[in-house]
Amino acid sequence: MRRKLAAGNWKMNGTKNSLEMLDILAQKHGSNLCDVLVCPPHPLLIPAATRTKGTAVLIGAQDCHAEEKGAFTGDTSAVQIADAGATYVIVGHSERRDAHAETDAHISAKASAAQAAGLTPIVCLGESFEQREAGNALPIITSQLAGSVPDGSTGDTLVVAYEPIWAIGTGKVPTVDQIAEVHAKLRSELVARFGDGGQDIRLLYGGSVKATNATEIFAIPDVDGALVGGASLTADDFSPIVSALENS
Ligand code: PEP
Repeated sequence: MRRKLAAGNWKMNGTKNSLEMLDILAQKHGSNLCDVLVCPPHPLLIPAATRTKGTAVLIGAQDCHAEEKGAFTGDTSAVQIADAGATYVIVGHSERRDAHAETDAHISAKASAAQAAGLTPIVCLGESFEQREAGNALPIITSQLAGSVPDGSTGDTLVVAYEPIWAIGTGKVPTVDQIAEVHAKLRSELVARFGDGGQDIRLLYGGSVKATNATEIFAIPDVDGALVGGASLTADDFSPIVSALENS
């Protein structure tokens, strides 16, 4: 049985005051019915991890470098993120694939570095609107999965997030059938590559998830939770999504 995961990606939003919402999440979602993860910007990792210690709220980062240390000005290694008290890291978000020209090979290297540091990488993938319109969504996500996921991954060391680029921050959400088709394809590719262990790897959907659509999305087979951007910034928006997952 895969454990459900509600993950919030704050992107480049939030300051120390924003961490107050972590207390509300910890109070409301201490029942352990699903994993609750918040990924704030790097400067907030240590105060966030300190604040949530001993609660059910987990902390993750939004990116890591593939190397452990060295002359990489402005970057942060997976080892440093783990040292800050985080347990997850998002890699391969489309905003990084796009704005930082990250390839599948970069992302796989980052995910391997995360696993070596004891972090669970959330590997993101998803097609553009043009790729979907051209009928290429499944081949694109299949190829991204093959190239971005490290060998030897298991349900304990990997989460995959399907995030169609055209659904991120736009309010546009794929149909239930479209999400179901992609998640079924991802599951079958993971099983083909990792055997029965592929059944244990959690698959998140991401892209304009809100309280109003969460219940419908969480009822789709092979959707094990969500990666949430805009609606993870306040407890008022994020908590009902977590509740929907707890009740799914
Ligand atoms: C994201 O950026 O990962 C995301 C899913 O954003 P939003 O929920 O705002 O669409």
